[in-house]
Amino acid sequence: MAREGVVVDMATLRKQRNGVAINVSKDPLIGHYADVGGEQLWIDVLHSTLEHGLAPVSWTDYLYLTVGGTLSNAGISGQSFRYGPQISNVHEMDVITGKGEFVTCSWQKNLELFHAVLGGLGQFGVIARARIALEPAPKRVKWVRLLYSDFSAFTKDQERLISINGRKQKTALDFLEGILLMNQGPINNWRSSFFPISDHPRIASLITQHSIIYCLEVAKYYDDQTEKNVDKEIKVLLQGLVYIPGFYYEKNVSYVEFLNRVRSGELKLQSQGLWDVPHPWLNFFIPKSQILDFDSGVFRDIVLKRNISSGPVLVYPMNRNKWDDRMSASIPEEDVFYTVGFLHSSGFDNWKEYDAQNREILEFCSDAGIEVKQYLPNHTTQEDWSNHFGAKWVTFLERKRQFDPRMILSPGQKIFDKQLQQAF
Ligand SMILES: Cc1cc2nc3c(=O)[nH]c(=O)nc-3n(C[C@H](O)[C@H](O)[C@H](O)COP(=O)(O)OP(=O)(O)OC[C@H]3O[C@@H](n4cnc5c(N)ncnc54)[C@H](O)[C@@H]3O)c2cc1C
Repeated sequence: MAREGVVVDMATLRKQRNGVAINVSKDPLIGHYADVGGEQLWIDVLHSTLEHGLAPVSWTDYLYLTVGGTLSNAGISGQSFRYGPQISNVHEMDVITGKGEFVTCSWQKNLELFHAVLGGLGQFGVIARARIALEPAPKRVKWVRLLYSDFSAFTKDQERLISINGRKQKTALDFLEGILLMNQGPINNWRSSFFPISDHPRIASLITQHSIIYCLEVAKYYDDQTEKNVDKEIKVLLQGLVYIPGFYYEKNVSYVEFLNRVRSGELKLQSQGLWDVPHPWLNFFIPKSQILDFDSGVFRDIVLKRNISSGPVLVYPMNRNKWDDRMSASIPEEDVFYTVGFLHSSGFDNWKEYDAQNREILEFCSDAGIEVKQYLPNHTTQEDWSNHFGAKWVTFLERKRQFDPRMILSPGQKIFDKQLQQAF
């Protein structure tokens, strides 16, 4: 991705911060925060902040990703419905712009650059440091999975649960996602082993009966003080949900084990030589009003017919009011929208089949008028990029002209072509 771009030795930048990679501190106005090098991995941010009894509130499913990398996209996971994406939880950044200027930007200063860089796909500057909001860290997690055969009931329950979303609201869930179970791979996939082995036969027969089972996944954090109430709170929250009776599964794990849940699957796949394989992924956001059409046209038609899926398929909703539309990340217009992620792994000889499925899904959405926005977008023409950003495209161009007029940053995203540079 750095071809004709720039590579920065991030360790040298750390000298500006007395060589400290992750520094936890407190400010009377914003509370606890961590100053973190853009090159740092989220797993290291987690361990360093936990030493102070603190942690960030918004995560990605996988923690061996850099802070600069996820903030250049958005950083989403099951916490986003309540705390917003990771880009909504940044106070300040040091950024090296395409003009070679070292600029500190925040809500108070250089706001245009601050907004541009968050979700900006590396187009406006290199994030050298980010100031991440911290809150007291919980100790443990009640983690629940519920199975549904009816997609409409599944999404209705998801939407009801994410409507309780105040940051300080004690009765709200801390995490909500959803995952498809199909006859296309083991029931316990690399994201986490969850269901007891003894229950695999009856889950498998449910899948055979319905072709697709939708698994709602929620979590509630707790510590020594809240331990006595957590079961009651979960019971109240899940009351009235219409999952298939008898298909309720619960786990009780440490906070670190929960946040780092993908790692054990990764290590297993690595040991089998199955991690470093092609990943023809497709991720996008879909307005809530079109999610049922998406289910019937994509999950129940294209995906079942092609029958090639291997790797998790995620589907869960988020609240638009937890995002800041002035940032570069592009999201649908509706108050609630879903993220769908086809996180495929393929062999080195059959990745084209997955690419073809991805193309068919995108074509179906376009023909059916389903307004999807790709997350981790992969567009190749200027027209597609302009459609991706929609009304924000003009601002995106203006910011590029302002902060990286020579177009030297992250050319691998293929957003700007040389012709456009001449027009600058
Ligand atoms: C296994 C796996 C699981 C994932 N799970 C999630 C998930 O749950 N949620 C989610 O939101 N995303 C997820 N992602 C996607 C992830 O957010 C992006 O791939 C992100 O770019 C990863 O960061 P990185 O450190 O690997 O970036 P890199 O691959 O190093 O960089 C990717 C691009 O990001 C930009 N960039 C990177 N660092 C900086 C910086 N310091 N300053 C400016 N721009 C920069 C550049 O354009 C660069 O080309 C996942 C990715 C993987 C591989």
